[in-house]
Amino acid sequence: MAWRVFRFFLFQLCGGLIGYWLVGLANPLHGLIIGLLTASALWVAIDLRRVAQLLKWLKEADQTRPLRLHGLWAEVATRASRLLRQQESRAQDSERRLQEFLSAIQASPNGVVLLDALGRIEWCNMTAGEHFGFDPKRDLQQHIGNLVREPAFLAYQAVGDFTHDVQMPGPRSTPSRPVRLAVHLHDYGEGRRLLLSRDVTALEQAEVMRRDFVANVSHEIRTPLTVLAGFIETLQNLPLTAAERERYLALMSQQAQRMQTLVSDLLTLSKLEGSPPPRADEWVSVQRLLSQCEQEGRELSATVAAPGHVWRVLNTGPAELAGSYPELLSAVGNLVSNAVRYTPASELIELAWRTLPDGQAELSVQDAGPGIAPEHLPRLTERFYRVDRSRSRDTGGTGLGLAIVKHVAQRHGAELRIHSVPGEGSRFAIVFPVSRIRADAEADGFADQLVEARRA
Ligand code: ADP
Repeated sequence: MAWRVFRFFLFQLCGGLIGYWLVGLANPLHGLIIGLLTASALWVAIDLRRVAQLLKWLKEADQTRPLRLHGLWAEVATRASRLLRQQESRAQDSERRLQEFLSAIQASPNGVVLLDALGRIEWCNMTAGEHFGFDPKRDLQQHIGNLVREPAFLAYQAVGDFTHDVQMPGPRSTPSRPVRLAVHLHDYGEGRRLLLSRDVTALEQAEVMRRDFVANVSHEIRTPLTVLAGFIETLQNLPLTAAERERYLALMSQQAQRMQTLVSDLLTLSKLEGSPPPRADEWVSVQRLLSQCEQEGRELSATVAAPGHVWRVLNTGPAELAGSYPELLSAVGNLVSNAVRYTPASELIELAWRTLPDGQAELSVQDAGPGIAPEHLPRLTERFYRVDRSRSRDTGGTGLGLAIVKHVAQRHGAELRIHSVPGEGSRFAIVFPVSRIRADAEADGFADQLVEARRA
């Protein structure tokens, strides 16, 4: 800076001297002033030219071109350029952060909409677009009230109490496939609003299922309890003969048994839901499973449908299944119990294990019972669903048997397939994946058959 001041005065001095030399002989003061003014004007002109050069250089996208300036202007150029670079890098940094932030909001499973002070959409993520059915680009600057016309939302917006959310049906909601959204508005900034949306369809369905389940269990327990209470009162208040007492006690025992079965099925279901999946390296003998189920079936058959049923057990080859023996026994046991309870005495019940052409294998229970109408088939595995409520109760059913079977099948990576024709009987098959089947080490022929099926 000092060097620049020195150069300025030197410039003035030279200008003054030249002025004095050219004009000053006639009028030295005039000559001096003209010289000084000319030198000043020249100095300003040179500076202006340098400023113009500097501005042009700064306007360039990148200041890589060398700038032929020296001294103070070179310093100004360097500092301005450094400042510009810093600012640019800060702006890029902010832009990057903004993009990261927006990507994070995009990835959110919740819908996010930013509204300006007039209620117009400034930005929204894809989830919000899906929830409300608007286009995240095309619908920018649209008023939210024009796009979301649901009365519950409009009333919520009008009242202005945003301490809680509001629930409303989604725009694509239909009676067969309902969609429920929980929508919450939050004030922020100067009059702006943040709109958050959540798809609560599954949550609501789970809540409905929980309520239904509790209602069903209460109902199932209340019925035998009422009967029991009635008998107790009768026994307490009426003078009964020994034979009558015997009959009442037998009926009471039947009701208690019914409650016991229900509680036991509920416990089985809750255990299945709460325990880790069965191990894939514990092997169960299919032959043992079939024999035990047949034996239990025959025993039940003798008690509920005297003189019993005709039994056939097919095993296309000794094999082993990876999984839990008690769970598999409970699943097949339930299928056998159903077959026994719904099939008239002396009719055929077939228990079979066979490998399928694609290498999978199935454990099936087939009966010659009344069969099931097609409209009931998709709902059979729902808890407490019964085709014939009184028949199920009369035979000691809880409505939970097939739910248990389905659960066990899923836990073993298997699938429950039901085929039934009214009047012709039913066939329930649990189809196991290849990975859970192996030949019983003691049976060579079957091992070859299984290896071939796996290859195919
Ligand atoms: P339940 O304890 O009532 O038998 P399940 O869950 O085992 O309950 O079966 C559900 C319903 O499916 C039964 O109530 C019955 O109407 C029907 N069902 C199950 N198995 C058979 C079968 N083998 N033949 C005819 N109907 C069956």
